[in-house]
Amino acid sequence: MTQPRYESPQQPHVCPKCGSTRIADVLYGLPDFSDELQQDLDAGKIVLGGCCVTGDDPVWRCRECGLEIYKKTK
Ligand SMILES: [Zn+2]
Repeated sequence: MTQPRYESPQQPHVCPKCGSTRIADVLYGLPDFSDELQQDLDAGKIVLGGCCVTGDDPVWRCRECGLEIYKKTK
């Protein structure tokens, strides 16, 4: 059984699964660590997705339940 895939045309305000508002952007690649990035990481606005990008990767992640949300393109 596979997880249902959640898609949204824009960053959702609340998690479609648990209702949390703690939705973070997933940042891919190896970022330049700056004070600003560190603040966003500390604040939970951004999570790091690692450097392995498949071309079909979730854009947002719920920090409460870990649900990954894909960007709906059509
Ligand atoms: Zn959630």
